[in-house]
Amino acid sequence: MTFEKTQALKNLTNAIISGDIPSALLFYGEDELSNNTLVLEFLQMFFCENHNFCKTCESCIKMISKSNPDLLIFPKNESFQVADANEIIENAQISPMLNAYKVIYIKNLDKSTESAQNKILKILEEPPKRVIFVITTSKTSAILPTILSRCNKVCVEELDYNSAKEYFKNIDDETFSEAYKNFGGFLGKLESSFLGGKIKEISNLADDIFNNLKSSKEIISYSSKLCKNKNDFLIVLKILENKFRSLLGKHILSNLCIAEIIEELNKAKREIENNVSLGIVSDNLLMQILQIKFIYK
Ligand SMILES: [Zn+2]
Repeated sequence: MTFEKTQALKNLTNAIISGDIPSALLFYGEDELSNNTLVLEFLQMFFCENHNFCKTCESCIKMISKSNPDLLIFPKNESFQVADANEIIENAQISPMLNAYKVIYIKNLDKSTESAQNKILKILEEPPKRVIFVITTSKTSAILPTILSRCNKVCVEELDYNSAKEYFKNIDDETFSEAYKNFGGFLGKLESSFLGGKIKEISNLADDIFNNLKSSKEIISYSSKLCKNKNDFLIVLKILENKFRSLLGKHILSNLCIAEIIEELNKAKREIENNVSLGIVSDNLLMQILQIKFIYK
């Protein structure tokens, strides 16, 4: 299990074993994939007759085949709607079929309308017996405070290297370690970096800019690559920041020079987030890096 070594899953497992499960749990953290993976592992432990995801008991077999009749997952479409809330209210009254509890799992509740949230608030205030609500969100500010106050909260944090690697067993060590170094231990961030082997391409571009940006001649070619995609551009900025930071105190560039370059990288990040044209941001950024390097030569 990916979250096996985390305090969050250890606490949850203890709660399962002691039978002390709150009627509403809210898993929150900035990364959706991490949030939903921790929930899945919690549910695997929770439903298992032996509380260790033995994979052999009836409940585990139903979990693996995604046919557990007591696990209801919402939203049914893209985002949580009033129709989902109505279905929950109806369904929550029906007793669990196979297990001691029924779990109503609402993914990414932040992506929902206020009216849908208001609708489920009532049932959260008076939850039926033998029903547990599990909610995930990457943005607690988008959840009604009245819902937040009804839930026990579980913070989903970044994973350590080995735990994250466990999730991405099929990714080779070199690619994984490069990605972990740059993106840290959130599963969604890591996954998007692996899609289509993009991480290599992006980190090569960052390498190129870091090592070979020496005259204004290179600006046009690097800039045209940078402005192709907003997310990739942001990742390059992050990689460049790490690279420049790693030079601090090494007497290759002065610390002041590095600080100014990092400031430019952050400025570019803010501009991209504020939807300034990528072409303008990349041209300016590369020009600034060149100038700063020249001044401190
Ligand atoms: Zn089991």
